[in-house]
Amino acid sequence: MTEYLVLKNGTVFDPMNGIDGEVMDICISDGKIVEKGPSNAKVIDLKGSAVMPGGVDPHSHIIGSKLNVGRLTSPESNRHYPYPATNKTRSGVAGIIPSSFATGYLYNAMGYTTVIEPALPSVKALGAWEEIEDIPGLDIGLLPMFSNSMISFKYIQDDDLSGLAAYIAWTLKSVGGLGVKVVNPGGTYAWAYGKNVCGLEDAIPEWDITPRMIMTSISNAVAELGLPHQMHFHPTNLGKPGNIETTMQQLDALKVTKAKGKKKQTVHLTHMGFDCLSVVDGGMANWKDVASGGLRFAEYYNKNEHFSTDLGQITFGPSMTMTGDGPFQHSLYQMSGGKAKWSNLPVDVELPGGAGIVPFTFEPKSPANAVQWTGPLEFALSIKDLWRLFLSTDHPNGGPFLKYPLLISWLMSKKQRETWLEMVHKYAIERSTLSEIEREYTLNEIAITTRAAPAKILGMEKTKGHLGIGADADIAVYDFNPEKTDLAKNPDLILKYFTQTKFTFKGGQQVSKKGVVAKHLSSRVHSIHPELNEDLSQRIDRELEEMMGKWFSHSFSNYPVPMRYREHLEMPKIIDSTSVQA
Ligand SMILES: [Zn+2]
Repeated sequence: MTEYLVLKNGTVFDPMNGIDGEVMDICISDGKIVEKGPSNAKVIDLKGSAVMPGGVDPHSHIIGSKLNVGRLTSPESNRHYPYPATNKTRSGVAGIIPSSFATGYLYNAMGYTTVIEPALPSVKALGAWEEIEDIPGLDIGLLPMFSNSMISFKYIQDDDLSGLAAYIAWTLKSVGGLGVKVVNPGGTYAWAYGKNVCGLEDAIPEWDITPRMIMTSISNAVAELGLPHQMHFHPTNLGKPGNIETTMQQLDALKVTKAKGKKKQTVHLTHMGFDCLSVVDGGMANWKDVASGGLRFAEYYNKNEHFSTDLGQITFGPSMTMTGDGPFQHSLYQMSGGKAKWSNLPVDVELPGGAGIVPFTFEPKSPANAVQWTGPLEFALSIKDLWRLFLSTDHPNGGPFLKYPLLISWLMSKKQRETWLEMVHKYAIERSTLSEIEREYTLNEIAITTRAAPAKILGMEKTKGHLGIGADADIAVYDFNPEKTDLAKNPDLILKYFTQTKFTFKGGQQVSKKGVVAKHLSSRVHSIHPELNEDLSQRIDRELEEMMGKWFSHSFSNYPVPMRYREHLEMPKIIDSTSVQA
């Protein structure tokens, strides 16, 4: 017999359906939101509670070998935060890089139900699938990297867009990827030669291509294939004062890609806080002269609709920086005067990405860190269209995802910002406009930037990020009455309520109640399988077999993740890419 559950009388924030704080009922059956239940349906009364769709986080490093190296590099970051087992759950640790089981439980406790790992070296995809077995309660996606692969380079050098698109399609199918990540295009490849790139026209060792050609060719291929998520882009010069100039140049360069279908955006600029650092008037491109680029970048964003972005907010305290941008991580290590720990994870042979890992503490009294903190907040509070933005800390780079409630409090409460402006170095006031900004995000705006907009940016808006009929029944119920609680005046309440939901439902099942895990649910993995036309499909098989045989440590037949690791978790979506010419 079909079971129904009715969540009654909650105050609902569902911006995708234009619902902003209305008291209403939500009916669930078979994991989905349905129109109406029978009179004998089970009922939970949510009078005086705030209800939102489950949170969607498209950029959080929760899976992969770099996480495990990070855990080994700094065990002290996690071992003081034990996460005990219960009769329903497994033990682990919280801290900066929570262990796999705890990652799922803690996200669910905060009301999040969808999380995307945004940097998968596809050669290591098998390990990622094995890890996902141990991360409960989430819808997961993986973004393989293509920007430093010799196979990408070969097709780009030959100006063979069909070959590049087919290589991307083959890889997404073979490793179960959801979309395409580009990290410091050409720079990580150059790192294998001890070099980096910084300009659009820089040379890449041994190849007759440039960073401009790599980023535009890949974004064109993504559009050509019709992938639901636009190219996920980590630009060159990450973390360098003054890099706002080259970030805007790169975004301008990407305007050559024409969007297809309904989607207007062709690129997602990730962690803008690390990409949009400015310098004081007449200053040099160094940390002494760093200034917030938040307002300037907001002006650019307001004028240019071809991209979306996320914050990459630093949150103060210990973090673990890790990216597929190997040369950046080395420069961060050098900035510490060689005192920081540093792990270099080159994948020299196939090089879809060469990661680096450096533990880092963002200090409130550091002039540079204080300015860096203001940038994303100034940006988020100065832009008009919130539907192209989602909140992130680039977990664990700017701080762990557990700091999201703190980030929400900075956006919702001027009082909270004033408290922090008093604690941090005075440059936060002198080198940004943050102290002058009055705006406070509403609950509806928080719902846009933590669920509705990210679901749209990922192309998952049919089933995620809203509470309309047919949506997955992923629901976060927060334990406060929006009509009676002044969150802006009481920022401590924001921390309290957004750290722990009253209930979190995932696919209609209650996975968390007041922070206690109610049910251990296996995660699911969403992937995109582009269907190519027969001629192109045969061509790519032939060419990849040859190139992998020549350049890679894995053979063509060993590269795909075998179905036995995937079929019980994977939710593949087949898309028609047969229009890409052979
Ligand atoms: Zn990242």
